[in-house]
Amino acid sequence: MANHHDRYPDNVPGSYYVDDQCIDCDLCRERIPDIFVRNSDAGHSYVRRQPVGAAEIAICEEALESCPIEAIGNDGMFAADEVFVGGRLPRVKRFVAGVTDPGVGGPR
Ligand code: SF4
Repeated sequence: MANHHDRYPDNVPGSYYVDDQCIDCDLCRERIPDIFVRNSDAGHSYVRRQPVGAAEIAICEEALESCPIEAIGNDGMFAADEVFVGGRLPRVKRFVAGVTDPGVGGPR
């Protein structure tokens, strides 16, 4: 299980991150290369930007579930099954608007 205390510093602030267990297998980058990218100097993945919208969140959740050593974490600013509650995207909108969430790993 990923630990936010071990997240790489090159992850963008927000829910999703890669921690220092990453073995650079490329699986997450293949699934959604606009979000998971490679630090080629250090040989690991990191989150370049947080997902926006249900489709991207769902793919990130798939990547999280598929990571062979559970190096991808989600601190829970939003979860895939929350996205359409009430037909709204409350947490995603808050994040995109830049209004910080006091949760762990949120923008400062
Ligand atoms: S799937 Fe997991 S181990 Fe593979 S590159 Fe992504 S974070 Fe690293």
